[in-house]
Amino acid sequence: MDFATRAIHAGQDADPTTGATIVPIYATSTYTQPAVGEHKGFDYSRTVNPTRLALETQLAALEEAQFASAFASGMAATSAVMNLLSAGDHVVVSDDLYGGTYRLFSRVLTRYGLSFTYVDMTSLERVREALQPTTKMLWLETPTNPLLRLIDIAAVAGLRRTGMIVAVDNTFATPYFQSPLALGADVVVHSTTKYIGGHSDVVGGIAITNDAALAESIKFHQNAVGGVPGPFDAFLTMRGAKTLAVRMREHERNAQAVATFLSERDDVAGVMYPGLTTHPQHELARRQMRGFGGMVSFTLHGPESRALDLAKRTRLFSLAESLGGVESLITHPARMTHGAIPKEERERRGVTDGLLRLSVGLESARDLIADLRQALDATRYEAGAPADPGIGDPPNPDRIPATQSAGAPTA
Ligand SMILES: *Cc1c(COP(=O)(O)O)cnc(C)c1O
Repeated sequence: MDFATRAIHAGQDADPTTGATIVPIYATSTYTQPAVGEHKGFDYSRTVNPTRLALETQLAALEEAQFASAFASGMAATSAVMNLLSAGDHVVVSDDLYGGTYRLFSRVLTRYGLSFTYVDMTSLERVREALQPTTKMLWLETPTNPLLRLIDIAAVAGLRRTGMIVAVDNTFATPYFQSPLALGADVVVHSTTKYIGGHSDVVGGIAITNDAALAESIKFHQNAVGGVPGPFDAFLTMRGAKTLAVRMREHERNAQAVATFLSERDDVAGVMYPGLTTHPQHELARRQMRGFGGMVSFTLHGPESRALDLAKRTRLFSLAESLGGVESLITHPARMTHGAIPKEERERRGVTDGLLRLSVGLESARDLIADLRQALDATRYEAGAPADPGIGDPPNPDRIPATQSAGAPTA
C-alpha cells in the first residue's frame, strides 16, 4: 500500500467491541481478567494500551517497519534507544543536532559511563577517524538542525562494524520524505511532537526498527523505565499522522517558495534549504530523500540585534521553539533551541548569532512571504555602512559613526 493509505488505515481497524470506526481513547490503567493468567493480551497500561498500540502499528507502517514503541516525548524515545548501550560504550554523534539530545548525551548519559564524540558527519573521513574499539553506536540527524546539512545515511551505515547500532533521528525529514531503515539504519527515532503530530498540541516520541532483538530490548525498556504516552496523547498523535502525506507536500511547496524569496534578497546573507540547487548537498538530498521538507534556515547581513528584531516583527511566523505544526514558526537557535550548547562550541558548528530558523507552515505562501518581506524591510540593514559591526557583534548605540567623528580614529 502507498504511504497515504498506510497513514490512514494501518492500525486503524474498527473497534472490535462496538464497531467504532475511529480507535477509541482507552482511558484505563488496568484490564479485568476472567481468570488468573488469562487475558486478551492487555494486563496493565504501562506495558500495553490499545490506543497506544494502534499508534505504534500506524507509525511502524509509515517507516515500512515491523516494530515501534511509543514514548511520552521524543527525548524519552531517544533515551530508550540509548538504553540499548552499557557503561563503557562509545557513541559517534553528528555534531549539528537537536540541543536537547546534546544535553541528554553530555549532561546525563556521560554520568552513566557512556562517552560521545561529536563529528561533522557530512565528512565520512571524520566519522571513520572517530571510531574507537568501544564504539557501539552511530547517532545521526539528517537534515541537520538547524543548518540543514545532509548526512549520507547509506555511506555512514556502511562504516558499521558488527554489533554497532546505527540510529537516525528522522524528525525533520519525516517518513514521508526519508526512509533511514531502507538506507541501512537499524533504528529510527522521531519526536512525534513535530510533523507527525503536526498540530503543536501534543508531545510524543517513537522508536522504530525492523530488528526483532532491538525491538524487544526497546519494548523491555519502555515497560521497565515507563516513559509512555497516555491514551489521549496517543489518540491526538494518531489523528495528526493520518494527514502526514498531504501536509508534507504542502509544507515543502511553501518552504521552497519562502527559500526562493529569501535567496533573492540582498540583505539576506545565506539561505539553507536542501531544495535549492545552490545547497551544497542538493544532489545528495535528491538521491536520499523524496522531498526537501518544510524547514528553512537563513542568516542576515548585520548584527545579531537585527536577527532578534526580525524575529519579533514577524506576525504570521510566531516566535517559538518547536517545528512541524500547521502554523509557521520562527526561532533564533543560538538563544532558543540550541541555548544548551556552549557558545564557543555552537559557533564552531556554524550556529551563529545571526542565524534564524523557520518552520514553514501551511498558511498561504503569498501571506508568509509578505510577512517576511515586511519584517526584513522594517529591519533593513545597509551592508557596507561605515560602522558595520558584523554578525555576532551587537552595535554600540553610543558609538559615533565614522562619517560624523571629525577625524577621530575608529576602533
Ligand atoms: C523536538 C526534537 C526532539 C525532542 O523531542 P521532544 O518531543 O521535544 O522530546 C528530538 N529531535 C529533534 C530533531 C527534534 O526536533
